[in-house]
Amino acid sequence: MRVETPQGTISAASVIVTVSTGVLGAGSIVFDPPLPADTADAIANLPMGLLSKVVLRARGADRLGMTEPTHAFRRLDRLGDPFMSFIAWPRDTDHAIAFVGGGAAWEVAPDPRAALDLARSQWRAMFGAKADGIFAEGGFTTDWGTDPHHLGAYSYARPGGAGAREVLGRPIAGGRLIFAGEACRTDGMAGTVGGAVLDGRRAAALVIGEKDRRHH
Ligand SMILES: Cc1cc2nc3c(=O)[nH]c(=O)nc-3n(C[C@H](O)[C@H](O)[C@H](O)COP(=O)(O)OP(=O)(O)OC[C@H]3O[C@@H](n4cnc5c(N)ncnc54)[C@H](O)[C@@H]3O)c2cc1C
Repeated sequence: MRVETPQGTISAASVIVTVSTGVLGAGSIVFDPPLPADTADAIANLPMGLLSKVVLRARGADRLGMTEPTHAFRRLDRLGDPFMSFIAWPRDTDHAIAFVGGGAAWEVAPDPRAALDLARSQWRAMFGAKADGIFAEGGFTTDWGTDPHHLGAYSYARPGGAGAREVLGRPIAGGRLIFAGEACRTDGMAGTVGGAVLDGRRAAALVIGEKDRRHH
């Protein structure tokens, strides 16, 4: 196997590819020969969803009446409301994290000002105008959706496409090329760090087994 990178070419007996299905689907890594059709279909059936964080910091001691060391909650949704959930003052800190997901995340995450405005409006909707005064100006936002190394937060299976996770995890090129990561989990751990770690181990075990077979 040969991996060509801007920093040079690496040769190896086997390659484990752990980039997201967002990166795979964008075609920024070119496979030669091209991937088998069922692998390419699996990637197409596992696009990336988006979850973004908007972090605001309290300007003073006001915690909007919340007294526990950590509060986790979400707004009661009306149909069409943006999905948002919140963690406030984790472990008695002075910051509050808003998570925005789905369509609203794809819309606002690339624009920090829009993301901050959305989070502030949601705080206002829950706690009234006093929520406006308690947070300092600005804030911190993430945007994994446009980050070329991720292009989303984690994979989801298109309706009818859940079998794609197993297909993507199947070794190809005679066991020399293996995709791994959260997207390949079939045990309910897709979309998690734990799933990603377990899948890396699965792929490594396959490579080691493959090597042993070749040597004996
Ligand atoms: C906001 C948010 C909150 C989350 N919360 C949780 C949580 O509470 N618990 C949980 O378990 N999971 C959570 N997740 C999900 C978790 O982060 C992912 O499921 C996990 O990181 C997936 O791991 P992975 O190794 O499969 O892929 P990734 O983490 O995407 O790793 C792929 C790696 O490949 C690299 N890469 C990409 N392209 C290239 C290239 N061309 N060349 C070289 N390297 C490249 C990337 O830089 C990256 O390091 C959250 C995710 C987000 C975005």
